[in-house]
Amino acid sequence: MRDVIVLGAGVVGMTSAYALAREGFNVQVIDAANAAAGGGASFGNGAQLSYSYSDAMASPSLAANLPKYLLGRDPAFRIDLSASPAFLIWGMRFLANATRGRFERNTIDLLKLAMESREGFAELSKKVTFDYRQPGKLNLYATTEALRYAEKLCGLKNRYGAQQVVLGPREAIEREPALAHYGHSFAGALWAPLDEVGNSRLFCENLQRLLEVEHGVKFRFETKVERLKKRRGRIDAVVTDAGDFACENVVLALGTGAVDIARTVGAHLPIWPVQGYSTTIPAGLNAPTASITDTARKIVFCRLGDKLRIAGIADIGNNSEFREARFQSMLQTAKEAFPSAGDFQAELNAWTGWRPVTPNSQPLIGESRIKGLFLNCGHGSLGWTLSIAAANRLAECLRNKPPSLPA
Ligand SMILES: Cc1cc2nc3c(=O)[nH]c(=O)nc-3n(C[C@H](O)[C@H](O)[C@H](O)COP(=O)(O)OP(=O)(O)OC[C@H]3O[C@@H](n4cnc5c(N)ncnc54)[C@H](O)[C@@H]3O)c2cc1C
Repeated sequence: MRDVIVLGAGVVGMTSAYALAREGFNVQVIDAANAAAGGGASFGNGAQLSYSYSDAMASPSLAANLPKYLLGRDPAFRIDLSASPAFLIWGMRFLANATRGRFERNTIDLLKLAMESREGFAELSKKVTFDYRQPGKLNLYATTEALRYAEKLCGLKNRYGAQQVVLGPREAIEREPALAHYGHSFAGALWAPLDEVGNSRLFCENLQRLLEVEHGVKFRFETKVERLKKRRGRIDAVVTDAGDFACENVVLALGTGAVDIARTVGAHLPIWPVQGYSTTIPAGLNAPTASITDTARKIVFCRLGDKLRIAGIADIGNNSEFREARFQSMLQTAKEAFPSAGDFQAELNAWTGWRPVTPNSQPLIGESRIKGLFLNCGHGSLGWTLSIAAANRLAECLRNKPPSLPA
């Protein structure tokens, strides 16, 4: 049996462990946090399994609004150019992907990957509980112009199986009656009947149990990876604060943490952290059943059991910790938009996390130039959605790789 060490126990690491264990690999998972999904973006994300709304982050509208973002005049999206030279290089590559042609190509590539995940989630939901529901999703558009462009893109996406439909405001309210209580008018909506929701933290925790019991996967938590060791161009060991782990196959699934660790063996990953926030409050009288994305205000509302998850904000360029003012700004936007969707007086469970974003929004999956070092990282704002398909692609790469040492 071939050994593999998966670094990272977020959704990407956990689904990688699952796909590899099913391929017959002997899997060990290492993470600095004290529990699965405990240390990264998989803890408190927007919870949307957004198969159809797979839009790449670098878009023509981003390019058009750049001055506003740079001047901090958009409540939800900010770019701070005072960051390092490395950020400027990444930023130039990111902006180069904001042309209409590249945006559409990147979006379709993400859509294909997302659609591959859908079946996997339905299958896994029979073995793992994670507040999984299939309520569809509504994307709200504030202006007719934005709706028209979304409609055009929807035509393209539907050719690849997205099944999105454009609705007027009245039709959107018929589809989701809670929208009658929405605080802002909107020009229309895109209805994505295939889109789903689920709690990625719960998913990781319960998947861990399945992996331990049914597949013998070993977990080492509270173990910080310090660096990788290579010998003659191939991976040799993982160095942690709890000692070295020798291994010929290592999967880097550390989210934004992958960059520093890859650099220890001379690999430079084009991933930048994009900070966001969320709150999880009791669902209110008018909590929507469908998941909702307000595209103008860049905020999502997603019901998870008897709770409402609200997520938003994209701050690019600085890597600060939790900023109260940014969280409050998101909360204010949410209260104004959907005042009776949740109990805003309750405990807010404020959270911040970082999306691991690549310039073209495509995740990095496969063997790196260093033999035995496999990447599964850089899933950006769609990592929860893409995780299962990405893990299957990764497992395919390892399956097809001949063992380097005689068995
Ligand atoms: C506000 C917000 C909302 C989002 N909403 C959605 C959504 O609705 N739908 C969607 O599909 N995606 C969403 N995303 C994106 C998604 O959450 C991420 O893409 C995904 O969680 C990335 O998973 P990951 O496993 O790669 O990384 P992470 O979840 O960040 O996991 C990385 C793991 O690596 C560990 N680690 C890092 N460095 C080290 C080290 N040196 N040693 C040991 N361990 C280490 C961490 O402890 C962590 O557990 C959102 C993200 C944010 C921030």
